[in-house]
Amino acid sequence: MDSITHILSAVIVTEPLPVPAVEEGAVYARWRERLAILLAALLPDADGVLGWIDPALYARYHRVATHSVLGLVILVFLSAWIARAWPETLLPPFVRRRYAGQKTIPPAFRRLLAFASVAIVCHWLGDWVARWGIWPLWPFWNEDVALGRVNSLDGVLLALTVTAWAIQHLFLVRGKRRAGWIVAATWILLFAAYVWLRPYWGPPAYV
Ligand SMILES: [Zn+2]
Repeated sequence: MDSITHILSAVIVTEPLPVPAVEEGAVYARWRERLAILLAALLPDADGVLGWIDPALYARYHRVATHSVLGLVILVFLSAWIARAWPETLLPPFVRRRYAGQKTIPPAFRRLLAFASVAIVCHWLGDWVARWGIWPLWPFWNEDVALGRVNSLDGVLLALTVTAWAIQHLFLVRGKRRAGWIVAATWILLFAAYVWLRPYWGPPAYV
């Protein structure tokens, strides 16, 4: 899948979760959870830099180590650790302004691990349904596992995911968490139905 679908998939299934209560006068640093999600959604494909070094290396190793169980565990910890350690001074100004001058309570590390895990599992599922698939047991079993029903870049899935995220966002900014979950559930159903039905029209998935 493309990076936007990877990120928004994880966002849609986590954004309606409630924020833990914090003491009076303090604010919960939700942005660290979002950063953990962003990193975990993107890091598995960071080995795309191999392509800048040598296209043959890229063809051979892209999505292999980073799309294995071993890679998943390492990337979950790495994402959670960066999200915990990221300095507030390096936030984009529009995020920093929201937290400026307030006492912030960071998320528990296990919560960051949970969010990163969800994002990587979403990433895996997105790649698994496409042609290239994932390499779950690398380096012990050097084979990919792929459902192969859609292409890695599928405009319909991208449009569906962006639309679901936008609708969910409109509900969540109005505090309608229940509606946010309904959007998430509907998106999962439509996504799965499209993936399942896609081979019945058009050429077979090839990438
Ligand atoms: Zn991937």
